[in-house]
Amino acid sequence: MKALLNRVLKNDLCSGCGMCSSVASDDAVQIRLNADGYHRPVLNKAYAGKSIASEEASSAFAKSCPALNLDIRPYKTANYHPVWGEILETLKGHALDNEVRQAGSSGGVISALAQYCLEQKLVDGVIQIQASQTDPLENVATISRSRQNIIASSGSRYAPASPAQALKWVAMSTEKYLFIGKPCDVAAVRQMQAHDPRLKQNIPYVVSFMCAGTPSLHGTEQVLDQLGVEREDVTSFRYRGDGWPGLTKATLKNGDARTMTYNDSWGKVLNRHLQTRCKICPDGIGEFADIVCADGWEGDEKGYPSFEERDGNSLILIRTDKGRELFRNAEAGGVVQAEAFDTAGIFAIQPFQYYRRTTILPRLWAMKLLMLKTPSYKGFELGKGIREIGLYQSFKAFTGLLVRRKKIKRRTLESA
Ligand SMILES: Cc1cc2nc3c(=O)[nH]c(=O)nc-3n(C[C@H](O)[C@H](O)[C@H](O)COP(=O)(O)OP(=O)(O)OC[C@H]3O[C@@H](n4cnc5c(N)ncnc54)[C@H](O)[C@@H]3O)c2cc1C
Repeated sequence: MKALLNRVLKNDLCSGCGMCSSVASDDAVQIRLNADGYHRPVLNKAYAGKSIASEEASSAFAKSCPALNLDIRPYKTANYHPVWGEILETLKGHALDNEVRQAGSSGGVISALAQYCLEQKLVDGVIQIQASQTDPLENVATISRSRQNIIASSGSRYAPASPAQALKWVAMSTEKYLFIGKPCDVAAVRQMQAHDPRLKQNIPYVVSFMCAGTPSLHGTEQVLDQLGVEREDVTSFRYRGDGWPGLTKATLKNGDARTMTYNDSWGKVLNRHLQTRCKICPDGIGEFADIVCADGWEGDEKGYPSFEERDGNSLILIRTDKGRELFRNAEAGGVVQAEAFDTAGIFAIQPFQYYRRTTILPRLWAMKLLMLKTPSYKGFELGKGIREIGLYQSFKAFTGLLVRRKKIKRRTLESA
């Protein structure tokens, strides 16, 4: 497994999901923030020169780590959409509890479903991430067991977060969990479930959100700089939420707050700090989840997403029968409200997802030209993307990755 981790790090393919730390023996691998501001696996010194996982665990890891392998084939049917994946229903909607809708990143649907699962005792806990109690800029994996903790964990955090670290707790437990994470976190869980019956049994629901990529924590530090704030003075930090999209807000020790619009923080700072793996991700749309939420932006006069402040609304993709049953029951229980949305309309409100998905192949070719190994992607029908977007955009994506090659950091497994 060490060799596999080295391959991931040398080719800058890690997404920081944290799954490796739960597969390795005991505390052999830990997830730490590295000098580039990303969560990465680190080897416990005590394991230098020793094996860190059984052969069986290493083989399951090789098939499940999203930096090495993404295979969507077992989860697709003849209805598979070459850009948006397997969809049973496309909806737009929101949480009916106003506090949850207001706190949520978009319509609060993910938090509402989490609360419903707990209340109905469908699960004992919700695995998700939230801001650390000790450092408001850092994210930690947690198990929520109350409405209060679900609301405290709601909202998008555009910084490294590793919820799949929690699989370690799941493997030792007899409880049932809902798992919430980015598409790569969720892919790690779903693919590992195929090799570990206990994980399959203990995680009956997997929910995700569309993801444009994880920025380095240096991006957040740059936002603080622009707000004229010292990191040590910050007591809490929200990227968005508390409205839709809501403001990026740093609250300070003296009670003052400094804010910036979502358009300025995400659009002008954070999205310039994305890790390499996110630039070649075919699955920003959460294909391995039961349900995926995203911003259900309204279009402006040109049809592009408008970030004007309004009541939160989510785009909801139901991907599995289990997801449909959960969503319909939550709807009947008065927890969420939604109406049908035309799948063809996703393009207008998620143009970034459309562009990245249809230009993955040229980006992978650029990586290969840079002598970098790439993950194995199976079943995503990526060739159709080039036909969809055309040669000019494909060429632009290819050269774009080559031009930014200096940002690719080849590292090895460090010890701590
Ligand atoms: C890195 C990142 C990229 C995103 N890219 C897109 C995009 O391209 N298009 C788009 O429409 N929306 C994107 N979003 C936002 C996403 O749309 C919303 O989270 C989604 O609409 C769900 O809204 P909600 O109100 O239902 O979620 P909420 O009810 O607010 O719940 C959000 C859940 O996500 C979890 N979470 C927050 N941040 C992270 C994280 N970094 N890693 C793992 N779990 C996390 C929280 O713990 C919570 O459980 C992104 C969010 C993040 C964090």
